[in-house]
Amino acid sequence: MNDVRNVVRDGGVAIAGDRIVAVDDFETLRAAHPAAEVIGDGTGIVTPGYVNAHQHLTGDRLIQSCIPDAIDSQEAIFGWAVPVHSAHTGDDDELSAMLGSIAAVMNGITCTVEAGTVAHPERVAAGIGAVGMRATLGQWGWDVDGVPFGAPAAEVLARQEAQLDAMPAGGLVEGWVTLVGHDLMTDELAVGASDLARRRGVGITFHISPHAGDAVSYLARTGKRPLDHLASLGVLGPHVLLAHAVHLDQVEVDLALEHDVAIASCPWAYLRLAQGFLMNQRHGEFLARGGRLALGCDAENAGDAVDVLRAGALLVGVVRDSASDPYSLTAHDALALATIGGARAIGKGDVIGSIEVGKQADLVVHSTRGPQFTPRGTDPVRQLVWASDGRSVEHVLVAGRQVVRDGRCATVDLDLLRDEARSRRDRLLEAHG
Ligand SMILES: [Zn+2]
Repeated sequence: MNDVRNVVRDGGVAIAGDRIVAVDDFETLRAAHPAAEVIGDGTGIVTPGYVNAHQHLTGDRLIQSCIPDAIDSQEAIFGWAVPVHSAHTGDDDELSAMLGSIAAVMNGITCTVEAGTVAHPERVAAGIGAVGMRATLGQWGWDVDGVPFGAPAAEVLARQEAQLDAMPAGGLVEGWVTLVGHDLMTDELAVGASDLARRRGVGITFHISPHAGDAVSYLARTGKRPLDHLASLGVLGPHVLLAHAVHLDQVEVDLALEHDVAIASCPWAYLRLAQGFLMNQRHGEFLARGGRLALGCDAENAGDAVDVLRAGALLVGVVRDSASDPYSLTAHDALALATIGGARAIGKGDVIGSIEVGKQADLVVHSTRGPQFTPRGTDPVRQLVWASDGRSVEHVLVAGRQVVRDGRCATVDLDLLRDEARSRRDRLLEAHG
């Protein structure tokens, strides 16, 4: 995933501390570093770690796959997910984030943008930190009445700023300005939050237009569609990562490109929630015109599987099929979206996203001993994207630390969390009938 996208056969990656120090054929590296520990058996495929640009680490995990699919998305979110979110204790949040992070790293995800409905950020940071994943993290932010953790704009902004102070840039878990978004933020909050992110040099993310409803309410309130309105307020810019942005008109796509905002596309969530992705998405056009597009997996009741490779194959497939164009995007584009594309979308393209000397050692080794790789095809990327997914992940490193070894989480023992996860799920479901 460097600029020339070369594939090194019989290769290896040398790392020291948290960084990549050499990429070469294995024998050359072995000769240069005779005492180095070797990870992998020489038959695997090494890729950069995957970037999940939109994931709720709390709320849905403990009740994963409990919300029915035969209800509409607004009911699923506001009738089910939000009340359960609001009932989370700090202990729930920490366990939830730990379980979500284990699921992520075991599928090769080394960096996650938390989607911002977190009540206890310090507990979520502890859960992520125990697993050892890289993440950006925000705190629940919306200024509407009658909702959990709703507050006036000034108070929400003060909370967000405190969060940035508590988790400064440069750490493995760093603070981002994170709003719920949709039509659940006043202009004062949207402008204040964007300015805060600009001033502090961090990213900002919020939800917009996964469905047609946001455009309806923005038009009623402002006379403009969402991105048109936000652009006129000065909110948009390269520091902005929009979650979803599926239902955009042509003017909004042009504005997104003009202001260089990034978009996190979560294709499984749109299909799971029946949000009209196939009929309305312009993510292929956005990408083709140079837009910074990333992949996300959203939440465990809206996409369910925390697997960026699976999302990449789906997105590329949807774009190819809706354009009836086999030349539009390929497996190589899916891998790029999952790695360097995602890294650039979240402003970390010079730190992670490719296997290059000097970058952080965020790496995935896929096993090729499974049936999906037997026999090996002629193009490892094509086989990885179309035939496999996170199931082939064997080893994962984040900043040089091994967090998955032989297909198991090496930092936290999942087996020790099962009973507690079950009892916390039962308590949350019983509390909400
Ligand atoms: Zn979301």
